[in-house]
Amino acid sequence: MIGRPLARGTCNGEDLRGFMDTVESQTLHASERPASLRRGGPDLAGWPDGHRRAPRRIAMLSYHTCPLAAPGGKETGGMNVYVRELMRQLGRRGHLVDCYTRSQSHLVPHIPDTDLGPNVRVIHVAAGREAPLSKAEAWAAVDAFAAGVEAFVGAEALRYDLYHSHYWMSGRVAERLRARAPAPWVHMFHTLGAMKDRSLGEGAGAEIGPRRGVEQEIFDQADAIVAATPVDRRHMLESYRVDDARIETIPPGVDLSLFRPLGRARARANLGLPADHALLLFVGRPDPVKGLDTLLRAMALLVARDPSLRERSCLCVIGGDKDAEQRGRDAEMARIDALRASLGLDDMVAFMGPQDQDALVDYYNAAQVVVVPSRYESFGMVALEAMASGAPVIASDVGGLSTLVRDGRTGFLVPYGDPAALADALWPLLEDDALRDAMGAQGVAVAEAYGWPSIAGRVERLYERLWAGVPAGG
Ligand code: UDP
Repeated sequence: MIGRPLARGTCNGEDLRGFMDTVESQTLHASERPASLRRGGPDLAGWPDGHRRAPRRIAMLSYHTCPLAAPGGKETGGMNVYVRELMRQLGRRGHLVDCYTRSQSHLVPHIPDTDLGPNVRVIHVAAGREAPLSKAEAWAAVDAFAAGVEAFVGAEALRYDLYHSHYWMSGRVAERLRARAPAPWVHMFHTLGAMKDRSLGEGAGAEIGPRRGVEQEIFDQADAIVAATPVDRRHMLESYRVDDARIETIPPGVDLSLFRPLGRARARANLGLPADHALLLFVGRPDPVKGLDTLLRAMALLVARDPSLRERSCLCVIGGDKDAEQRGRDAEMARIDALRASLGLDDMVAFMGPQDQDALVDYYNAAQVVVVPSRYESFGMVALEAMASGAPVIASDVGGLSTLVRDGRTGFLVPYGDPAALADALWPLLEDDALRDAMGAQGVAVAEAYGWPSIAGRVERLYERLWAGVPAGG
């Protein structure tokens, strides 16, 4: 029997070794599934008042990364959180949502129990080695994955009312599925190959060859493309041939019941942090695009300006690997580690590894400032979570961050890749608690508009327009 509960974030193979003895089979028979996951009518227990629209069956496609995986690893971050939270909301609204993702470990049940609430399933489909794969290897297995999804859909006699694909590789899967079983198709890129190339240098970031061409095919064929911000939309229009009317701008959301002001003293006590210590916080995947090197260089400039900062401030880096040996195995983490040492910051920078979001809220609350020094962000969920938790955010003036962070009100926007500008922006916030609190409060007010229920409502309205035969856009 499988279908036993998986703790949040146990989708990575290495977290699942202990499951080996207890997982007896990889195939879950319909009769073994929890009632809410069996085919048939949706569970409407969480149906919001006044919401009486017809429930639909939706296929979420998250091919290369599982929404249940712990964020903060190399391939796990905002997209995982986005897919997870959107599904939770759509399920609550009564829709039957199945998310298909590539199986990365034979130890993970193919249909695990989740904490995503009623009407939502995550289905792991074997394609290629059941292990983490490079992007190129994953792309090579994409057709096998689409075939696996088709086989599952056939075996369960499912008929989807809509496909919603995430990231360019899943777009290819949606293309395949709807060639066989037509239904409206919504796509969200999360990152665009063109922007990643532009920010890191053409061909950097080991993006694989077909990406730009496949992205163009998706623009040509999907019924609607979700852009995260007006800037994301503009990047699409600048870099691809695309019909503006099919792009819908809907930002990601934030869990306002989790990310909220808790009081700095309480958060600091929860983390065991001295009350007079200034905590600078960075949260993100270990990826050159996140610009952590710029932040380290800015820290070095600040310490040169005021050496006493060495005793009374520190930078916590959340995400990536915590222990030195593991860090050495990842090129980006090794680069950051070496830079930390060469700048003489060993005693000021702590690598905390990935943290789950229940812990993150304490860090955001305890921080004097949250820094998002990225070279490119289509949105920047970390900035939004920090704002919702009452922390000022200093971010690069790029992508979605430019619209999310209100310069001078909820934090500061600085040119990316400019350590001196970042140090100048950090300086006033390090000392001034009143400024920190005022900016934090403004951030909370801005973040209120981004609660997941209202964001998912906007996605649902887009779906409804497509079901009614009305094109996207607006
Ligand atoms: N995150 C997390 N634990 C970590 C690191 C990150 O839960 O250790 C989450 C974070 O809360 C946010 C997401 O991962 O929801 C990162 O999203 P963002 O848009 O900032 O970056 P992306 O990963 O999409 O580049």
